[in-house]
Amino acid sequence: MKDRSETGGISRRTILIAAAGAAPALALMTNAAEAKIAQAAVKYQADPKDGKQCDACNFFVAPNACKQVDGDIAPTGWCLLWVKKPA
Ligand code: SF4
Repeated sequence: MKDRSETGGISRRTILIAAAGAAPALALMTNAAEAKIAQAAVKYQADPKDGKQCDACNFFVAPNACKQVDGDIAPTGWCLLWVKKPA
């Protein structure tokens, strides 16, 4: 007798194996998406540089975070990744 789940050409076993294999990959992708760069790696400083500061950067998240750099980020800070926020 043929399993009803195999009538479409894909067995239940195939689906379960695929799902089990995808879970760790999805977990890695999620972790990679959440990983941020260490402040020291991008020479973050709490003071502006050459008139550029975090609250004018495209990556700044008010009140004190950044989409790219880890930890507390001062609105008056600066790092090598600074990119002007679109007007
Ligand atoms: S200058 Fe650097 S730390 Fe500041 S918001 Fe931009 S990317 Fe983040």
